[in-house]
Amino acid sequence: MDDIISKDLIELQEIMKGYGESKFRAKQLFEWFHKKMVWNYEDMTNISRELREKLERDYPIPSIKIVKKYTSKIDGTIKYLFELKDSHIIEGVLMRYKHGNSVCISSQVGCKMGCKFCASTLGGLIRNLSPGEMLAQVYLMQQDIKERVSNIVMMGSGEPLERLELTTRFIQLINSELGQNIGQRHITLSTCGIVPAIYKLADEMPQVTLAISLHAPTDEKRKSIMPIANKYSIAEIIQACRYYIQKTNRRITFEYALIEGENDTREDADYLGELLKGLLCHVNLIPVNKVEERHYTSSHSSSIEKFINRLSAYGVQTTLRRKLGADIDAACGQLRNRYIKERGE
Ligand code: SAH
Repeated sequence: MDDIISKDLIELQEIMKGYGESKFRAKQLFEWFHKKMVWNYEDMTNISRELREKLERDYPIPSIKIVKKYTSKIDGTIKYLFELKDSHIIEGVLMRYKHGNSVCISSQVGCKMGCKFCASTLGGLIRNLSPGEMLAQVYLMQQDIKERVSNIVMMGSGEPLERLELTTRFIQLINSELGQNIGQRHITLSTCGIVPAIYKLADEMPQVTLAISLHAPTDEKRKSIMPIANKYSIAEIIQACRYYIQKTNRRITFEYALIEGENDTREDADYLGELLKGLLCHVNLIPVNKVEERHYTSSHSSSIEKFINRLSAYGVQTTLRRKLGADIDAACGQLRNRYIKERGE
């Protein structure tokens, strides 16, 4: 948690103590960062100039800004590209629903998980994002639309359970009553299935909604599209999910990208139905987004329909992901890749 934005109130109090300042200053600083979303010491008028200068010298605020914005004419979805202090690019999405605004954020620059259908992983992992950099995406989108964000999904680039402590700090900060006060129940975290971290998450953040990227009903098939399947089996994932459900009593989402000829047959649906029947969960089917560098294509609508019907025979609830921003579409990580190419890297 190197940057000052990633610090919690207690850590800020420690810093203030070091300057011989009162605890109250830490609260003021925290509110500037997280309630007013002001990331510029100069504007913090209730803090003395002297202290602001010291903070500027010792704890410079990481710069992050919006460099591109694509707005859907169909449904108002906005895709953003942000530039970080070291000029890396990350992406976020704002979606408008009847029940409020929802943002999708990235947790890492790139990703090392290597899922075969995903654009975020093409250049590997570049670096983790600090909790502050995760927050910045939410705050910048919120400020840009001048409306409150009510839900957050961690489904952008990166694997949020790879460095669980960064993700939990982010959640802690966004939860804070002194900040945006977005409750854990309004946060969904999507993982490719880092089993030990699922147990920890269930213990530490039992109200967060968990989504598991399953994408295949057997280990053999999963291994062929998701390298993480070599490390953790589906049985281990399901066991961790049972623990999560027992601890939290919350329904789990299984994401399943339908890829033509790979994982969309009747047999696949049967395996999946057998695997998930009776579990407190639902399956979110996503027709796979075509990624230029990959050869996978989405299942036909007739096979999607059959797949859904087959699953419902097992009593497994299914939703088909609604496609938002179809006119500005770009799968996970694609916008970033395109922008970097244009920039000539
Ligand atoms: N690493 C996390 C979160 C990021 S990906 C995870 O694996 O869950 C968010 C979701 O988008 C995951 O379910 C991922 O598998 C899915 N996804 C990635 N590329 C996709 C594509 N081309 N088409 C459809 N879904 C995709």
